[in-house]
Amino acid sequence: MTIFKRIIDREIPADIIYEDDQCLAFRDINAQAPTHIVIIPKKEIPSLAQVEIADEQLLGHLLVVARKISEQLQLTNGYRTVINCGPDAGQTVHHLHVHLLAGRSLGWPPG
Ligand code: AMP
Repeated sequence: MTIFKRIIDREIPADIIYEDDQCLAFRDINAQAPTHIVIIPKKEIPSLAQVEIADEQLLGHLLVVARKISEQLQLTNGYRTVINCGPDAGQTVHHLHVHLLAGRSLGWPPG
């Protein structure tokens, strides 16, 4: 079981800022920007490499929730969404998640 599943099940605490029937969003414990939120589906999908056509609605929902959170947190100067997939992308938690980063100018290309 991943640490994110434990957060969904309320076995470990997190600073949860949004929840609905399909997903949960909380502040990243090791923030890489002044605002760093992790948005996760409640469905256990290890990474983007395992998504299926049946997950289309859920994946779109995660991005709509990113937009809702951007309004909730008044991220009026912009933000970045990131999905790390696999070792070269630096994925460390094997439960699909969308990073939402904001509050500073973000470099491009990413590191
Ligand atoms: P990734 O490297 O894309 O797999 O991202 C995993 C993210 O989860 C990292 O940014 C971690 O800092 C974050 N993270 C790991 N454990 C926790 C936790 N208990 N609460 C909040 N964020 C966490």
